[in-house]
Amino acid sequence: MPSLYNRLTTKKRGDIHVLANFVNIYCRENHKEAAKQEFHIADEDLRTKLRGLILCSDCSRLLEHSIAKLSLCEYDPKPSCRRCKTHCYAPGYREKVRQVMRFSGTYLIKHGRLYLLLHYWK
Ligand SMILES: [Zn+2]
Repeated sequence: MPSLYNRLTTKKRGDIHVLANFVNIYCRENHKEAAKQEFHIADEDLRTKLRGLILCSDCSRLLEHSIAKLSLCEYDPKPSCRRCKTHCYAPGYREKVRQVMRFSGTYLIKHGRLYLLLHYWK
């Protein structure tokens, strides 16, 4: 049985990396006082790829949920969530992810790393 990561398309792998990056920035800048630990996910390959990601428990849960939803996304290629007809996120998570994207997107623009944002929203 190939790992979850190996079954993902290149596009979805890229989406997961960007998502992880965005959550990482959000948590680093907004949850400075929270207790944090390395992000843990069951899939071994994915865990290796995302090594070094340090998040608080709320952000870990959010990222885990988002990765699960992204992996199960029935569309290939996946449209940007904004344009998608299927709202697959659990209540509360969708708003939270939008908040993370908005914050980190603005952060990246301010820090001249716009290419990450363009990659995500294209
Ligand atoms: Zn956090």
